[in-house]
Amino acid sequence: MSVAGAPESASPETVAGRSCDGCTLCCKLMAVREINKPRAVWCTHCDKKSGCTIYDTRPFGCRVFYCGWMTAADLGPHWKPLTARMVLSHHTAHNWLVVHVDPGRPDAWRAEPYYSDLKAWSRHMTPKGGRVMVWQGDRVFAVLPDGDVNMGTMRDDEDATDMGRRRGTDAGPLEAAKGISS
Ligand code: SF4
Ligand code: SF4
Repeated sequence: MSVAGAPESASPETVAGRSCDGCTLCCKLMAVREINKPRAVWCTHCDKKSGCTIYDTRPFGCRVFYCGWMTAADLGPHWKPLTARMVLSHHTAHNWLVVHVDPGRPDAWRAEPYYSDLKAWSRHMTPKGGRVMVWQGDRVFAVLPDGDVNMGTMRDDEDATDMGRRRGTDAGPLEAAKGISS
């Protein structure tokens, strides 16, 4: 995350030949709880040209985070965050592929070739209990093989279980969202 001065292969998990290389988009789109940074606003420690201004003391969450572009070799070049205006991450607890969309390009996920990719990933993940989720501003959409579900808003301090409870069900946020959107 905003790896100012980082070597080309910044982590064993990153794809060889890829680097953050001038990108700081995750420092805008991702929430960082340790410093109370909300989603979708620039971190106050981010210099868009040189990267993190507190690089040596940045939070643990920033130290360990690399986006999908940096870790998934099979992603096409269109998924480079500065091109896509989206950052991909994997929410392991719920097996969600989360698409964080730049508020400056809120419909980026609906454009091609991105939307077809999201649908293909949904067809692959949904039968196995996974989800493709899109964060567009404060709204959350579930991309399903047969349609998209507007799940409403999710606060920075919530996770999927919290969201399901707030919707009045323990069945899960997607099921609850289907209930309120039908
Ligand atoms: S969005 Fe990805 S490529 Fe861009 S700075 Fe963050 S980890 Fe690096
Ligand atoms: S602390 Fe540094 S690495 Fe973390 S979000 Fe802010 S600018 Fe990015």
